Amino acid sequence: MMREDIIKEIKNVLSDVSTSKVEFLGPEIYIYTKNINKFYENDKYISSLAFSLKKKVNIRSDISELMEVEKAKSIIMKLIPEDAGVSAIYFDTAFAEVVIEALKPGLVIGKQGLTSKAIIQETKWTPTILRKPTIEGQYLQKIRGVLYKNSTERKKNYSYAAEKIFAEKHSKKDWVRFCALGAFREVGRSCILLETANSKILLDCGVNPAGNGDSYPELESMGYAITDIDAVVISHAHTDHAAFLPYLYKMGYNGPTYCTTPTRDLMVVLQFDYFFVSGKEGSEAPYSEADIYQMLKHVIPREYDEVTDITPDIRLTFHNAAHILGSASVHLHIGDGAHNLMYSADIKFGFTRLFNNLEENYPRLETLILESTYGGNNDIMPPRNIAEDRLISIINDTVKRGGNVLIPVFAVGRSQEVMLVLEEYYRRNKLQTNNVYMAGLIREVCAVHTAYPDYFKDNLKRRVLQNNSPFSSPIFKEITNKSDMEVVLAGSGNVVLATSGMMTGGYSVEMFNRMAENPKNTLIFVGWQSEGSLGRRLQDGLKEVTITDAQGKLKRVPVNIEVVTIEGFSGHCDRNQLLAYIKNLNPMPKRIYIDHGEEEKAVAFAKFVSQRFNVSCYAPKTLECLRIR
Ligand SMILES: [Zn+2]
Ligand SMILES: [Zn+2]
Repeated sequence: MMREDIIKEIKNVLSDVSTSKVEFLGPEIYIYTKNINKFYENDKYISSLAFSLKKKVNIRSDISELMEVEKAKSIIMKLIPEDAGVSAIYFDTAFAEVVIEALKPGLVIGKQGLTSKAIIQETKWTPTILRKPTIEGQYLQKIRGVLYKNSTERKKNYSYAAEKIFAEKHSKKDWVRFCALGAFREVGRSCILLETANSKILLDCGVNPAGNGDSYPELESMGYAITDIDAVVISHAHTDHAAFLPYLYKMGYNGPTYCTTPTRDLMVVLQFDYFFVSGKEGSEAPYSEADIYQMLKHVIPREYDEVTDITPDIRLTFHNAAHILGSASVHLHIGDGAHNLMYSADIKFGFTRLFNNLEENYPRLETLILESTYGGNNDIMPPRNIAEDRLISIINDTVKRGGNVLIPVFAVGRSQEVMLVLEEYYRRNKLQTNNVYMAGLIREVCAVHTAYPDYFKDNLKRRVLQNNSPFSSPIFKEITNKSDMEVVLAGSGNVVLATSGMMTGGYSVEMFNRMAENPKNTLIFVGWQSEGSLGRRLQDGLKEVTITDAQGKLKRVPVNIEVVTIEGFSGHCDRNQLLAYIKNLNPMPKRIYIDHGEEEKAVAFAKFVSQRFNVSCYAPKTLECLRIR
């Protein structure tokens, strides 16, 4: 539907209500009225608009109607019960919204939405309600602050995005192709260019954090400017999927980025981390902090299962990928159903303590792009309960012999999963220590987790909602500086969860350097280690490392620390889970492309899949382009 048709339809449905303005902001439509109460007296208007337009429609008061801010604030505070725990209120004139952050959003909404409705009727401001995290986090606060203090600029960005979405198709052709710009026959720098006769979009835009091979996606190979891209879609926050995104904005890209709300917040945290860590390691990040903020102001969040037109011929739906908080598989419905593509991104098809099972039913599916991190013949993981018992017994043995335990983890994903295990075993009196330290960004990331409990499994969600979050257990303490680190190293019986997860920098490397010589200590790997990373070299039996000692001198030390790898905690499918996922897919895709796996594994896995399922399956190389329709 074109803009003119939409406006005509709105006038038709709202023939007896006066509207002052219609705005197209990103994929949504905003209708401003001088009589907002009329919409709340009778909900037929909103429901018939949503039905006939098949778009998200927002009704807002005309700016002339909005109550003066101080007065509105005092009325709102009287309407909301005190136990809601309101922590911040922003009045956002650009969108005629009042943004209310509260510990208990349910009480701001009220029974059957009555409190929210009363706020609109009395003040004419429309509330947007955010959950306050139960763990304080400076990043989340900063992100929300930036978003709501820059709403005029955001509105301009959304309006620009809408121009692309509601544009006329300039071609009637219906071909589809994709170009592999990164993470094909490799892990890291995930990036796919998807092109149709009418659209050019990027799926993910990551870096290769392991430092082996090329660091960034092959964007120059596109043959046109980054500013020609219509939209970017981000599957999840991990550095290898999203840390290159601010660079696009640095290079002048001015279009939208679609992702879930938790992905937006987590990717900003990880981009800042990438920026700071690169600086410390002496290699500069390819963008500045300002570019990260620039990106943030262009993000259009979408929830799971929400269907959104992102260009004139591409319709996007995110599905739960059960990999990390907010992670999604990306389903694209192209050209009125001419083709359906699913980009799995990183997925977990199996038990996790954090998330519900992923989606395996789709209305239509012709092409699947599937990850293969653990697609190798020997990549079979033990059941989770065995992995958990083993982790606890190794920790307890180390505690008994007077050593410390170091677990390198990704800030997002494995750290929370391992924390949930440690917390539960501690409650069951099976963990012999109550000193679990988090070093690096882990606490900040946990704070973001507590702001989005709806994304969790029921029992975890309940605990967070009851303010009894396992992430706030007293066994978890934080290392925030060098002197905290010294205290932990001087003691014994401590468990340290530290970033980076592949020991490419940060606290995990600093702590390891100080722990390596002592055979009483244990280093436990629970997550993926890329080729070339220090983590992988230690797994492969590295005997000696060069470290910088307390005096700043380089020194060679033997690796006496016990090095253990525990499989079974991964946020990725193992080989059997990948095969089970394909088997369960409904419908079965016509062709499968394999990405996100080391060359040998990806190629062998593709061959195996094509034979086992009698389907066309291939592992393209990075820089290959393939026509899929
Ligand atoms: Zn990931
Ligand atoms: Zn990944």
